[in-house]
Amino acid sequence: MKLLGAIEAGGTKFVCGIGHEDGTIVDRVSFPTTTPQETMGQVLSYFAGQDVQAIGIGSFGPIDPVPGSPTYGYITTTPKPHWGQFDLVGAVGAACNVPIGFDTDVNGAALGEYTWGAARGLDSCLYITVGTGIGAGAVVGGKLIHGLSHPEMGHILVRRHPEDTYEGFCPYHGDCLEGLAAGPAIGNRWGKPAGELPADHPAWEMEAHYLAHALMNYVLILSPQKIVMGGGVMKQSQLFPLIHGKLQELLSGYVQHPALNAGIGNYVVPPQLGDNAGLSGALGLATLALNGA
Ligand code: ADP
Ligand code: ZN
Repeated sequence: MKLLGAIEAGGTKFVCGIGHEDGTIVDRVSFPTTTPQETMGQVLSYFAGQDVQAIGIGSFGPIDPVPGSPTYGYITTTPKPHWGQFDLVGAVGAACNVPIGFDTDVNGAALGEYTWGAARGLDSCLYITVGTGIGAGAVVGGKLIHGLSHPEMGHILVRRHPEDTYEGFCPYHGDCLEGLAAGPAIGNRWGKPAGELPADHPAWEMEAHYLAHALMNYVLILSPQKIVMGGGVMKQSQLFPLIHGKLQELLSGYVQHPALNAGIGNYVVPPQLGDNAGLSGALGLATLALNGA
């Protein structure tokens, strides 16, 4: 079987792996995200000894995923020091002369869950990560969504929780969804890291309020057949039933489908690929590149 390379480029770490077209991952390593010079040095020496036929990159962003654009393959306006306007595809392509697939980390994860995970056999799915930031990617009609650039579904505006006085931390929008509901917002609001709050803390009801608002918008706009929720904050599994209930309340019976009624528990789900969702997604992007898509 052909060997494919996968790179999950994150703001904290780069996870690199080798796998096959059927989604199996045979090797994985991880390097801290420091400077492009140092991190890319490690990434490229990892792939130097491997005979891969294509490489897929799912990256933190914003990125430029539009082929033909002068900055195609770049990480663009990230506030992360050293990485703004970095030509990621160029750096990988200069060292490895193989087709490269490039997309956002969350579009990659959506592709992975669609191909091998929770949304296998469907035509559409949405993947949202709730971690240091919030981002979402989607497959619709079997294709990853792009347009002017890529969707930025983490920065939508949501109705404020009536008891929330926290101003929000998004440097661009203050109290957008990410500003109010990403991991750091929970930590700032309650004065303790999100992972240290007990399961019955009021933080989770508020968190579910915000995430259910986001999901309502995604359901109304994209009508995905499955919603997969990953990222560090979603390790709080008590969020799932809270989100199911609030999403149903918000939709208020307007969209009639069994998935939104009795099937809600099987509609909004954790990643079936678990902590491999990101790397598998990059493998999916490599598969698309290999097949010229
Ligand atoms: P990243 O978004 O950087 O890729 P993660 O998805 O792990 O990484 O998200 C990190 C964020 O998730 C942090 O803000 C952290 O507080 C939060 N987090 C990590 N683990 C948990 C947990 N068990 N419960 C709640 N929040 C968590
Ligand atoms: Zn924002």
